[in-house]
Amino acid sequence: MSQDDCIFCQIVDGDIPSRKVFEDDTAMAFLDANPLAPGHTLVIPKEHHETLEETPEDVAAHVFGALHRLNTAVEHAVDADGTNVAFNNGEAAGQEVPHVHGHIIPRFEGDGGNPIHAVAGKRPDLSEAELDEIAEDIHTQRD
Ligand code: AMP
Ligand code: ZN
Repeated sequence: MSQDDCIFCQIVDGDIPSRKVFEDDTAMAFLDANPLAPGHTLVIPKEHHETLEETPEDVAAHVFGALHRLNTAVEHAVDADGTNVAFNNGEAAGQEVPHVHGHIIPRFEGDGGNPIHAVAGKRPDLSEAELDEIAEDIHTQRD
């Protein structure tokens, strides 16, 4: 389902131009308009889903399959030494476009960038008991 006020839905519908690098019935990928590196690519479901939580598992799995194949294509195309693959999932995590999308950001030896560990705030100081409790909570929350 497409949302009129969503920029990525407008890209899917062809109402806004994009540098499309992949499309099938479920997923689409295009170059980021404001790239962090040459080859910076966004992979999206064609249906409008705001976050990962709201994306049905079969759609998410399909998007990840496309992302996996595109990651190799992007690396080869720009001769990258590696990539960061990430979702800014929700506003608190820095998501600006509310249509779920995975970033493929090519990385190059000595590019001066940071690992994914740099995205969060101050590291929490958690005790063994607190870690055990969190692990147990996640375990019991699974579907
Ligand atoms: P995020 O902060 O994860 O929501 O990232 C949104 C990304 O979408 C940013 O990297 C933008 O540069 C990119 N972006 C925004 N508008 C467009 C557009 N029309 N075409 C391609 N990329 C876009
Ligand atoms: Zn959308």
